[in-house]
Amino acid sequence: MVNREKIEEGVRLLLEGIGEDTGREGLLETPQRIARMYEELFAGMDQDAAEPLSRQFEVRDGGIVLEKDITFYSVCEHHMLPFFGKAHVAYLPDGHVAGLSKLARTVEVYARRLQLQERLTAQVADALMENLHPKGVMVLLEAEHMCMAMRGIKKPGSRTVTVAARGAFERDAALQENFYRMLDR
Ligand code: ZN
Repeated sequence: MVNREKIEEGVRLLLEGIGEDTGREGLLETPQRIARMYEELFAGMDQDAAEPLSRQFEVRDGGIVLEKDITFYSVCEHHMLPFFGKAHVAYLPDGHVAGLSKLARTVEVYARRLQLQERLTAQVADALMENLHPKGVMVLLEAEHMCMAMRGIKKPGSRTVTVAARGAFERDAALQENFYRMLDR
């Protein structure tokens, strides 16, 4: 659970730090507003992906399951600015599958924390391996980082792509090819 009081105090200090007048009308409610917003943006800190993935259904001879274009929003831990984009999550079932919405839910659990895109990608892949015990998992994230767009080298529109392959997807190049072909469709 986030500590709202600490966030409010911190936001007041930040405002003072940038030379703002914390008493002016537009800013009066800002610390509370940000504290409430952070509760939502970082809700994943209190959540575990094992829960959404615990409901499983048996399947026989399941082929690749791919959930693509899962929109996600996260916050980079280096600048505390948003990064957001699409996640594509695939796995090769070994006897059971999870409900499709649970793949998006798993992305959500890990996105709603301070993150690095590389770690987010790996955590989603590992959570599926651990909870669903599939033959393999492949996760690809493409995201735009506001810390790249708004500051520093200022490259708006550029996207960062990260990939994590586990199990059969790691070993089998043909399976990886299948994944990329399914993405292109
Ligand atoms: Zn950043």
